[in-house]
Order: sequence, then structure tokens, then C-alpha cells
Amino acid sequence: MPNYECLLFDLDDTLYSLSTGFFTICTKNIEEYMVQKLGIDEKKVQEISPVLYKTYGTTMAGLKAVGYNFDYDDFHGFVHGRLPYNLLKPDPVLRGLLLSLPIRKVVFTNSDKAHTARVLSRLGLEDCFERIICFETLNPTNKGNVPVEEDDTELGVPRSSTISGTNEYMSEPNDSSVLPRTPVICKPFEESFEEVFKIANINPQRTVFFDDSIRNLQTAKRLDLHTVMVGSSHRIEGVDHALESIHNIREALPELWEAEEKSENIAYSGKVAIATYVKA
Ligand SMILES: [Mg+2]
Repeated sequence: MPNYECLLFDLDDTLYSLSTGFFTICTKNIEEYMVQKLGIDEKKVQEISPVLYKTYGTTMAGLKAVGYNFDYDDFHGFVHGRLPYNLLKPDPVLRGLLLSLPIRKVVFTNSDKAHTARVLSRLGLEDCFERIICFETLNPTNKGNVPVEEDDTELGVPRSSTISGTNEYMSEPNDSSVLPRTPVICKPFEESFEEVFKIANINPQRTVFFDDSIRNLQTAKRLDLHTVMVGSSHRIEGVDHALESIHNIREALPELWEAEEKSENIAYSGKVAIATYVKA
């Protein structure tokens, strides 16, 4: 059993329950944004939105890749800004668990800074983490924004570099087709994790990663993180532990608290040694 030195937590549907309904509301808000702000036909939205999500990690990353031009903050304000945050209640149980864990704790979320801050504040967890890595951390500017010169965006058809904002393309894993690469850095892609390891000085082999998304967990596993699925007690490939709720962390992973016991023992023996030395 490795000696863990960092716990990396997803935010949405991991530190609070899926039962808040935020996920469903966000999905609806994203679809409304595509219709109202990007002028995409409602039927087309239903068709392309799951494909963009699946291919590019988030629908937003996919929209950027296929050439839509919009401001990240405007998108986040529309999608997250209107969530009923009053539904989120303080979680003193989770707070107690987090504060008792003798290991550094970092949040890694695809969500934006304002949403992350509001969620953590509503849950009463704003001071439980050493560091928050959110959308803006990995995507510090709106540099993906470039003027759109055409409006014939078709998913799966590579756009010219002047339209997509990048001259790089990505190939579909199980398909010979070539897709435009998104300028957005996000989970579940390895690049985002590697960036997080650098920013937060994380050794993946000594880190436990908590997330509700199987594809995020599978990338994490490939990168040598120890993985914990939250929101389901059903263990699947790529997952070392599965928790129905983040509240079950102590029962499932008691070893995370062992670092404290060990360090207490060391501190105690240190005191004894000093006392002996003084006496002599
Ligand atoms: Mg999540």
C-alpha cells in the first residue's frame, strides 16, 4: 500500500450528490445557450450535444473545436450562473472528514472559478483544500476565440485553421475520421491531468483521485493515480474503490488516516528522544 501524499477531488457530483439536480439543469442550460446564443437549431442541438460531449470532454470544448465563437465567461455565466445554489446545504460531516485527513487536498474540476467558489462556500468547504484547479487555471484566457468567417459548421468536418483557432487536428480513437482539435484543456484528457500534476506538484503514484465520471477515472488510472469512483458502489474497470457517497470515505479507505497515526508515533518517539537527551 503506497504512502499517499495527495488527495485530488472532482467537484460536481463528487463533493455533493447528483440528487441536487444540478447536472440536469446544466445540461438544459447548455442546450439553451446553443439555441439562444449560438443560433443552432433545437433539433440539431439534441443531435450534436451528446456527440460533442463524448468526443471533446465537455460540450463547450466541442463547440469551440467545431468553430463556434463565444466567450468562456459568457457561457459559464449562462450555464452555471442560473443554478439554484440555495439547494446546496452545508455538509459538516464531509467537512469533518476532510479536515481530519492528514494529507494535502486539491480540487480538480472542469467547472469555472465562480461556480466552484459558490459550491464550496454553500457546502461550507471553502477552507478544506490547499488548492483549487478549475477551468480558468487550465484555460487562462479566451485565446480560443477567433472571428468566425463562415456559419456552415458541420460536426466531423475539419474547419480551416483560421476558423477553429488552431491548426491542429485530432483523430477519433475508433474511427479513421480526423476532427478539429479543441483549444480547451479539460478532463478526461491526459493533457489536463499532466498539467495539474505540474501545477500542484503531484506525484500520481502517491495520489488518490475521486470523481463520479468513469472516463475521468480511466484516464487517471492510465496515469498511475489510485482511483475512487464516487456516486456508485459498483466497481468497474479502471476503478480501485467505489463509494456510494463521499461520506463513506473513512469506511472504504481507512488507510488514508494512517499517515496521521504514523506521524503521531514519530512525534511521540521524537519527544522521548529529546527528553532522554536532556536528562543525560
Ligand atoms: Mg463530476
